[in-house]
Amino acid sequence: MDAPEYGDASQVLRRIFGYDEFREGQQEIIEHVVAGGDALVLMPTGGGKSLCYQIPSLVRKGTGVVISPLIALMQDQVDALRALGVRAGFLNSTLDFDEQRTVEATFRAGELDLLYLAPERLRLESTQRLLDAGDVSLFAIDEAHCVSQWGHDFRPDYLALSALHERWPDVPRIALTATATPATHAEIASRLRLDDARHFVASFDRPNIQYRIAPKDEPKRQLLELLRTEHPGDAGIVYCLSRNSVEKIAAFLAENGITAIPYHAGLDAQTRAANQSRFLREDGVIIVATIAFGMGIDKPDVRFVAHLDLPKSVEGYYQETGRAGRDGLPSTAWLAYGLQDVVQLRKLIDTSEGDDAHRRLQGAHLDSMLALCETVECRRVRLLAYFGQESKACGNCDTCLTPPESWDGTVAAQKVLSAVYRLDRERRQRFGAGHVIDILVGKKTPKVIQFDHDGLSVFGVGADLSAGEWRGVVRQLLARGLLAVQPDHGTLALTETSGAVLRRELEVPMRREPERRAAKLKAARV
Ligand code: ADP
Ligand code: ZN
Repeated sequence: MDAPEYGDASQVLRRIFGYDEFREGQQEIIEHVVAGGDALVLMPTGGGKSLCYQIPSLVRKGTGVVISPLIALMQDQVDALRALGVRAGFLNSTLDFDEQRTVEATFRAGELDLLYLAPERLRLESTQRLLDAGDVSLFAIDEAHCVSQWGHDFRPDYLALSALHERWPDVPRIALTATATPATHAEIASRLRLDDARHFVASFDRPNIQYRIAPKDEPKRQLLELLRTEHPGDAGIVYCLSRNSVEKIAAFLAENGITAIPYHAGLDAQTRAANQSRFLREDGVIIVATIAFGMGIDKPDVRFVAHLDLPKSVEGYYQETGRAGRDGLPSTAWLAYGLQDVVQLRKLIDTSEGDDAHRRLQGAHLDSMLALCETVECRRVRLLAYFGQESKACGNCDTCLTPPESWDGTVAAQKVLSAVYRLDRERRQRFGAGHVIDILVGKKTPKVIQFDHDGLSVFGVGADLSAGEWRGVVRQLLARGLLAVQPDHGTLALTETSGAVLRRELEVPMRREPERRAAKLKAARV
């Protein structure tokens, strides 16, 4: 069989993929790789990274080898390419021996344009010999942030990819990722030894996504309201932290007549695959999932991504919300977050395995996420700044559309901190945020009475605010490090900076809990 002539890059774009124009950045990247250069591509999810290696693989002589951690999606990707007439195959653990043999033979015969490989395959000497026996036109390293040891998707097998350049110094490499803090960016370049690579950094703005972060009061009801008023019949993703809450929320939505199905690592492989494929193929399905769901999912018409628990990092938040609106149409990224999220995640970090440096890093990730939640500035400006990109207030996020009011929370902060200080002297006992708030508002709960806390000088000094408002105060203090959560049991504790507030050396402006003004936000959507 003669190798087909696909033509140059624009011809391939039109004839094979059926698109008229390149998207921003694509042409430059493709030309650079076609010419044999190394590239590091940072482009947001949905930006069109695949074409950046698929087209050069078709234009250059030989087979483009794509390394991807997304084994579950390889079959789909290869099927989609074959449907376009592209000669594609994959090698991973899902193939039986004969299937594997066939793919290998096709590759050796020079009859593949693209070969998808799981990273662990590349470590095998047999795979390396196979690649030597064929003609590799380029290496594409997809989801390249998996090489980052401190990142949220670390795959040990990715570290071995640094050897590609040693064994095949003449084969161009293109590494791609949608995760792009300046630190990850540098780490990818150094770990993959992309010393001479050109860096292509696309804008990370997703203008069609409306970012909203709301205080969590009754999450189920809030979610239902969002779905009913703004997204009836729409496809979407609801993220929860635990398998248990995934199951509960999926059941709750189904009870309310909404087509919702669960997805988490505790389900058997068959159910997971079936649920994923229903979400991809049927219209208007909502998938309720842990973050195990979504990497590499290419469903263009996801109209909303809702988070019922706080993501652990801004990168995670950006990746997950980025699954909304790949088709460019208006979409919502909605997050509900509350005091318990902060307490729970801080505890999780403090009790996590790994060394202190790792814990500090996780803590820093969480702090950035909290800062995004508590900001009074444009969410998009904060989000893009996190990725090192400057921008102007967007007009399409909650803080732009309904600017939050701030108030002087110094006295309120002092009340909380004094209560925590008083309780801290009774070291044998464990008192969480709920108990502190009960004391402040002057609520005589059994626990308050048991410990004579109605006799404390701070008892009832906070009757001017509601329990909900106090939760907001505590949450903001935690977010800013003016209050801490003790490891293991979630007791509140003072920090080094608490003293400055108690001594009135530090003022504490606070964000007033915004009313939910869904209708106004909806009307203002672009
Ligand atoms: P990423 O890998 O960056 O998340 P994809 O490569 O999956 O994004 O592309 C996202 C979507 O955009 C896909 O449906 C793809 O077919 C489409 N796409 C990519 N490039 C173009 C283009 N030049 N014109 C039109 N659609 C495109
Ligand atoms: Zn904005």
